[in-house]
Amino acid sequence: MTLQDQQFASDNYAGICPEAWEAMARANAGSAIAYGEDDWTHQAADAFRKLFETECEVFFVFNGTAANSLALAALCQSYHSVICSSAAHVETDECGAPEFFSNGSKLLVVPSEDGKLRAADIRRLAQSRSDIHFPKPGVVTITQPTETGLVYTVEEVRAISAVCRELGLKLHMDGSRFAHACDSLGISPAEISWKAGVDVLCFGGTKNGMAVGEAVLFFDPALAHEFDYRCKQAGQLASKMRFLSAPWVGILESGAWLRNAHHANACARRLADTIANLPGLRPIFPVEANALFLSAPAPVLDALRARGWRFYTFIGGGARFMFAWDADPARIDALAADLREAALAAAG
Ligand SMILES: *Cc1c(COP(=O)(O)O)cnc(C)c1O
Repeated sequence: MTLQDQQFASDNYAGICPEAWEAMARANAGSAIAYGEDDWTHQAADAFRKLFETECEVFFVFNGTAANSLALAALCQSYHSVICSSAAHVETDECGAPEFFSNGSKLLVVPSEDGKLRAADIRRLAQSRSDIHFPKPGVVTITQPTETGLVYTVEEVRAISAVCRELGLKLHMDGSRFAHACDSLGISPAEISWKAGVDVLCFGGTKNGMAVGEAVLFFDPALAHEFDYRCKQAGQLASKMRFLSAPWVGILESGAWLRNAHHANACARRLADTIANLPGLRPIFPVEANALFLSAPAPVLDALRARGWRFYTFIGGGARFMFAWDADPARIDALAADLREAALAAAG
């Protein structure tokens, strides 16, 4: 097995960052109590409480689909509905898991051009029906940053949470790249989560330098009632929990969570800046986090593929490039050079 040239098709092509790896190695030195009763898991939960400056309830699960689905299920009854954007991962990429784990809570989708959900759309949809035949809106979920690489400002989240509070809805945040949003906004995790009215946050570890794992943070402990049972029933209670929790200690206490995100964001910016003004190329969405969605003529995309570059085109038809903690600037420049050559050739 040889190492392949680095690709930017997805930020989960990356390996494990040194801080997470080192904590795993320390957790591996000897045995520990199982099922989350160990010191690592307590320490990781405390690290989250310190980072978020509040006594939140913290749970560790294997992946984002589980984190989102179980969190949403905890926030509603089966006859409730969950309002989300049409681009939301819970709608497009979780194979119906939110509906499955909530025993049928329906996702109510707001069509969105740029992937964001807006306060006015939530109000319109939530108030469109109030009769017993309609699945009663119970939760709103937003993705921070969005699947399109946009970041909700504090004002936008506050506007959404104000509507939620007014209409009696809970607010969930899919933060599979939450760290990237914190870096992009340059504000504390608390300010863009519970202080802005978020009830439950799924904080992504996988896309932030860990091998695997997401944390579910309940800012209102009452909402976390029996969530441990929900995790266990869903097959999400790790017996050797320390290997899910120790890496969090590693990246939170060292500050790597933010450094990793900062590097990834800067890499997206670097590619965007390097190829700005090339003929036929245009970012589909503003670059606010670690993604660049690029609109380019078909021959340019074909030329890139012919040179061995991998990328997805499932959002907006353009090429998506995503950067992780380990993105190599030299490799980004190689991609930029190939883009430049292909764009100039296509432009004649
Ligand atoms: C990657 C991702 C997730 C988590 O996906 P899993 O593959 O289930 O870990 C959740 N939400 C968004 C927006 C993502 O990009």
